[in-house]
Amino acid sequence: MSAVAIEPDWIVPVDSPEIPRGVLVIDSGKVEFVGPVLPQRFANIPKFRLPGIAILPGLVNAHCHLEFSDLSRPIRSTGSFTQWLSEVIAVRQSQRDASEEERLESRRKAIHAGVRESWLAGVRFVVDMVTAPWSQRWVDEANLACLETLSPFARKTFVPNVALTVLPCVELIDVNRNRGDQTELLATQLLKESIGPAVEKPGLAPHAPYTASMALLQRAAMRAHTEERLICMHLAETQEELEWLQDRSGPFASMLEPYMDQMFRSRVGTINSHIQSLSHAWRALVVHGNYLSKQELISLSRYRNHMGIVYCPRTHSHFQHQDHPAVKWNDAIPIMLGTDSRASNPDLSIWEEICWASNLMLSLSPKQIALMATTGPARFLQVESQVGALRAGCFSRLSAIDVSTSRLYQSPAIQSPAIGSNAIKAAPNTSVTNTTAMLSDSAIRSISSTELWESMLDDGAIKPLESLACFQLP
Ligand SMILES: [Zn+2]
Repeated sequence: MSAVAIEPDWIVPVDSPEIPRGVLVIDSGKVEFVGPVLPQRFANIPKFRLPGIAILPGLVNAHCHLEFSDLSRPIRSTGSFTQWLSEVIAVRQSQRDASEEERLESRRKAIHAGVRESWLAGVRFVVDMVTAPWSQRWVDEANLACLETLSPFARKTFVPNVALTVLPCVELIDVNRNRGDQTELLATQLLKESIGPAVEKPGLAPHAPYTASMALLQRAAMRAHTEERLICMHLAETQEELEWLQDRSGPFASMLEPYMDQMFRSRVGTINSHIQSLSHAWRALVVHGNYLSKQELISLSRYRNHMGIVYCPRTHSHFQHQDHPAVKWNDAIPIMLGTDSRASNPDLSIWEEICWASNLMLSLSPKQIALMATTGPARFLQVESQVGALRAGCFSRLSAIDVSTSRLYQSPAIQSPAIGSNAIKAAPNTSVTNTTAMLSDSAIRSISSTELWESMLDDGAIKPLESLACFQLP
């Protein structure tokens, strides 16, 4: 048996109460036990202490476009969504004159950067919208590169198979016949070829009502139904989109006019007809849904067993949209958190989305918001044994919040040498000091759940559990 016991200051399963000074038994990437006291059957396994750390489930990013992960800063929003979208398209087309090889290399680098950044931010599962070129191999390579930063001990103990899983959803667009053929081709290739340890069964992503016709959506939804695939669609994201759907007017009309063909023009639906079509899929995610009406939300809630909304808090703020319906509809519709891409967000940290949303959605507890990025999406996507949950039987794809520099540790009772100085450097390049501030067990147990969550959100730093230094207990 290669099991080890890990003792952080807190275990935070999110969907059940926190366990102060609890213990977690992990064996070759799988959680064997979680509880307040180590059972007798594990008495002889090596024990490691993680002072100043709260362990959480691995985080789920329910909406991203990893292909923009090489952008150094978000594209400015000037108040016009179509203007922003034109700039995003310009970024995509800026390499039109580059050679095929250069374009592939640049895309590969962006996917690598996105996987690495997500992994470092405790994200262990990403629903990614993909466009051509895309390769499963890039995700596999990026995964390996993450694992190569770990010590053999950390890799063997904590990592089940891969660092992070990507669920690619192929973007489908048919504003004209040519675009339709291109995206169908990528979909056919990708749905046939991709699946492996780092890649989940690909889904489908009719882009948005202004780029994907009702005919395309219906075909994709039926396919997602018969083949049990996820379908995602940007829907009711902006006022401009509603305006266009209503009578083909507003900024989208002039933006789309040069590209749209007659076939597309005759097959545009309403927000409600999109919801109805999406409801045929095995699982459907309405991305954003910022401007869904009460009636549309009621209609969506009827399908709550297999339909949900992805709320991207910082992207939402980037565009200064009206308040998101997630606050009021959290009990009626599954709400999940996403980052969207670096074209509208400074980074790909879902933990930062939880922190941001907790300042905006004051009627919800931080735990309710954290559920939207852990057990909530994991259960919805039926990947709970892989990610998003912290309980016996699940993969040990976990994240960690370092609270050692938070206000909780202002007057520490003990310094770490008290538990022995035999620190295991989880990552070879981690510097380990023996002056880590520690709280006594009784001090940890006296801290309330509310105080802990406030400290995690205000002063905590998200880190990959696999790269932390831990102290071996005698
Ligand atoms: Zn998006």
